[in-house]
Amino acid sequence: MFLLFDNQLTLRIHLGIYGKWNVSEIDPEAIPDPVGQVRARFISGQNLADLRGPTVCEVLTKAEVKVVEKRLGPDPLNPDRDGTEQERFVQKVLSSKTAIGLLLMNQDVIAGIGNVYRAEILFRAKIDPHRPGNTLQASEVEEIWRDAVDLLKVGVKTGFMITRDELRTKRPKRADRNFVYKREGLPCRVCSTNISIEIMAARKLYFCVGCQIN
Ligand SMILES: [Zn+2]
Repeated sequence: MFLLFDNQLTLRIHLGIYGKWNVSEIDPEAIPDPVGQVRARFISGQNLADLRGPTVCEVLTKAEVKVVEKRLGPDPLNPDRDGTEQERFVQKVLSSKTAIGLLLMNQDVIAGIGNVYRAEILFRAKIDPHRPGNTLQASEVEEIWRDAVDLLKVGVKTGFMITRDELRTKRPKRADRNFVYKREGLPCRVCSTNISIEIMAARKLYFCVGCQIN
């Protein structure tokens, strides 16, 4: 996340696994002191947001932003009218022998996809997470990108990582939001095969053998 201040300085935040915003309503006349390790605080009228536990929280100059942006992979939440970001992502995947399940977790390849979206996007695209990037079709990689753009927008709008389209406008319980994430051993919502789990590069990977591998 990049927040631009007065057109000069940018606050860059990466929530990582433990980062969290706590939003509360306050009396603007009696603003409470920060409790614990608050890294950033925003106040607007009666609303207060405290940031705790992010992996990154730093103030950058314009020049420093350029350096970070170059280092980070394409970001599905960035405006991409000319398709440059999508094309960068497609080329990075197609030129790599690494499994697509790992590529989606690599911030150099695509920014902002965590463990939930990695599993869900590959399920929705019916792609085996173990396939090396260079064995995918360009059209498959483009579909992954478009779905990431779509799902992340839903996430930002609703505050929930909902990947079942029919539940987008509802407020589904955690157990109902996804197809495969944290559903190991439960029947697939599409083909009824029990959802699989394995450890891929120290992170849990969820997928459906019926939909994605057979
Ligand atoms: Zn399935």
